[in-house]
Amino acid sequence: MKIDYLRVSITDRCNLRCVYCHPPGGCDLVDREEILKLEEIYRIIKLFSYCGIRKVRLTGGEPLIRRNIAYLIEKLSGIEGIEELSLTTNGVLLASLARELKDAGLQRVNISIDSTDRKSYKEITGFDLLPKVTRGIYKALEVGLKPVKINSVIIKGINVSQILPLAEMSFHLPVAIRFIEYCPTSQYTKPANDYMPNHELRKVIEREFGPISFVFTGAANGPASYFKIRNAAGTIGFINGRSSIFCHECNRLRLTSDGNIKPCLYSTQDYDIKRLIRNGSDDEKILKFLKNILQKKDSFTKLNSPDGEFHMQKIGG
Ligand code: SAM
Repeated sequence: MKIDYLRVSITDRCNLRCVYCHPPGGCDLVDREEILKLEEIYRIIKLFSYCGIRKVRLTGGEPLIRRNIAYLIEKLSGIEGIEELSLTTNGVLLASLARELKDAGLQRVNISIDSTDRKSYKEITGFDLLPKVTRGIYKALEVGLKPVKINSVIIKGINVSQILPLAEMSFHLPVAIRFIEYCPTSQYTKPANDYMPNHELRKVIEREFGPISFVFTGAANGPASYFKIRNAAGTIGFINGRSSIFCHECNRLRLTSDGNIKPCLYSTQDYDIKRLIRNGSDDEKILKFLKNILQKKDSFTKLNSPDGEFHMQKIGG
């Protein structure tokens, strides 16, 4: 598999407290001076582009709380070789930033929303901010970030009642609603056995809307398979990270906000690139380091559950 996708967490801080992502009592945050500076992120991504990385997605924590994110996007969009620049956000700050980000070179956005009901949104995230997120979705569509994808995690006992309202969004809006299976995290977050497999979820959708038709799937476009409700404006995607293994299709590496490269979401094997950057290593040395990780990637792609301590907020989902 060609490794051409880098997912970059630009902060481990978040402005929401989602019950399934944020441990009660909080998770240990990285000291601020350990977080990669924007110039360091830029340098690493530029060097990665020499090794075949073509797609970059910024995430977090919540990437939109990072100051000067538009500046970073503008710099990244100028890197020859980076063909696709995207962002995953909870959408809270998107309405006010979408235009600036688009003008800076952002191409597409994924917005996470696990409920269309204001009360349950507040219960899940800790904040009464659904109207702001909804405005963010409309703004993203208005400024032409394309495609707009909506990420939803359905967990039994939390938001099963939201399957149909979320699926219905894809009927009215030209967005892809993607149901991502909840994957196990460390003991502090909601127990992972509450997860709802996507094949069950699909049955719920088809009982209400009738058979959904297959649109496309593809490793190059990520691990989702897309379907459509008849006459819908948008699509429904399923990402079966829990119930099926797609390691053999995995084309991505991750860079954490404190400067570690992870060959696999679940692996505890990190490669500290910040140390190299901060001890004055030249480009040649760093490129050798990156190529070595890329070559080894295959040997890590065998994990379907976390190999030790695992917090999505810290790694970057
Ligand atoms: N703050 C941004 C957001 O909300 O999209 C980016 C970071 S968040 C960790 C990225 C995505 O990871 C969100 O869509 C969230 O729902 C998902 N996520 C978090 N914990 C998860 C878990 N245990 N299993 C599956 N997805 C998870």
